[in-house]
Amino acid sequence: MSRHLPVRSATAAGVAACLITATAAYAAGPGSAGIGDPYYPTYGNGGYDVRHYALDVTYAPATTKVSGVATITARATTDLSSFNLDLLLTATKVTVNGKTASIRKSDPHELVVTPATPVRSGSTMTIKVTYSGQPRGISYAGVASPWIGSGTEAMALGEPEIAAWWFPSNDHPRDKATFDLTFRVPKGLEAVGPGRLAAKTSTATQDVWKWSVTSPMATYLAFMSIGQFDLYRGTSGGRSYAVAIAKKVPSWAKGAAKADLMRTPEVINWEATQFGPYPFDSVGGVVPSMSFGYALETQTRPVYTYSFWGGGSNMSVVVHENAHQWFGDSVSVHNWKDIWLNEGFATYAEFLWGAKVGAGSVNETLADLYNQYPASYTNFWGVRLSDPGKRNEFNEAVYVRGGMTLAALRNRIGAGTVQRILKQWSAAHKNGNGTVAQFKALAERVSGENLDTFFANWLDVRKKPAETAENGLGNLPRVTGGERSRAADQIIANATRYAARGHAR
Ligand SMILES: [Zn+2]
Repeated sequence: MSRHLPVRSATAAGVAACLITATAAYAAGPGSAGIGDPYYPTYGNGGYDVRHYALDVTYAPATTKVSGVATITARATTDLSSFNLDLLLTATKVTVNGKTASIRKSDPHELVVTPATPVRSGSTMTIKVTYSGQPRGISYAGVASPWIGSGTEAMALGEPEIAAWWFPSNDHPRDKATFDLTFRVPKGLEAVGPGRLAAKTSTATQDVWKWSVTSPMATYLAFMSIGQFDLYRGTSGGRSYAVAIAKKVPSWAKGAAKADLMRTPEVINWEATQFGPYPFDSVGGVVPSMSFGYALETQTRPVYTYSFWGGGSNMSVVVHENAHQWFGDSVSVHNWKDIWLNEGFATYAEFLWGAKVGAGSVNETLADLYNQYPASYTNFWGVRLSDPGKRNEFNEAVYVRGGMTLAALRNRIGAGTVQRILKQWSAAHKNGNGTVAQFKALAERVSGENLDTFFANWLDVRKKPAETAENGLGNLPRVTGGERSRAADQIIANATRYAARGHAR
């Protein structure tokens, strides 16, 4: 039969035979320009699955220019005549399997790569992209550049947007990959990234920092923080840690920030008792000298703005960002609308920590927050956690009402049952993705209870849940005056800062 048999004239059997014998040249088509996220249709791409990014990035403080070579190993999931990468900088050369590919931009965010020969479904391709540009000057689709700083203090950090501002990728949490990151900076500067410090070398003019991430990582969790840091490294419990505190962090925050971040291994060990084994091989934290208003759970090494320590010690934020290593980083959202699985869960970890350190039992904190947000506060209770809306993922309610949801579930079905659910969740979806619907199904399976109304009232209904046993609000303690929960106040204080991240900046 002809390999070019038109499908419309084929019999059913003929179509099957045609598909088996077709060459890639016949069947190959373009990969889609988005992965299918309803909030962000151009984010991510279709037609391939990235396995590994090897990034070699040079940052020039004098011009704030980033120049890079990205070597991307990916497996085609369909026969591809062309495919897209997400990149807002300018690509000057792309090769696929060593051969020069033709490139064009179909949109400032979409680099369309047409390989010299189509790529067969199931085959592995090596894509090498040479690119450059000034990330801080680029806004896209109403989003101001997430890039932070200039000169000798600069940072690639953000959620959901950052990757396209500094490297080409399939920029969506559904396509995770391992990373090797090489940062070339002028001599004397530190360049901190995620994962293990694999090597630090120098040339006549540059320091070269190499970081290695051996577990799959979502693209937004890759970061680069350049400046002058004191770097504290070691091992704890068989894991390497690296804590970086910028030399110019104001003295009123520096001591507390360092002391709290050095307790990260202890926090991880405690969280492992609550959520299951820590999913990664290294830990740490970064506090730059720039004030940027939020913290982000970059994989293995969260980055924190120093103002979290304006009131002295703030272990709650360290607990929150490291809880994300389980909820957000290892188990990532399937779509961005699933953000409650990240922020609600990390905030719930703050409830648990508060109880551990005597700042209020989980039920006291729940009761206190329930009282502090009156039903008339519709900006808060009107947010639908199961689908908060594009650019509303980091609303304060996603954090506070989100954490209250798990605390109320705990009050309803018991602490041990919730702990079992969280451990099973982090194990079943390790290094993968999850949806709110999948979590609800797991909670019902493990608890043996019908939780439809419970979850609807907490996650779907746009009003304050009534104080009923079914909503997990039965028999809450009275919290007035001196009985108020200090954990609740810390949760609110942190949430208002977290809510300033991303688009809000
Ligand atoms: Zn968070």
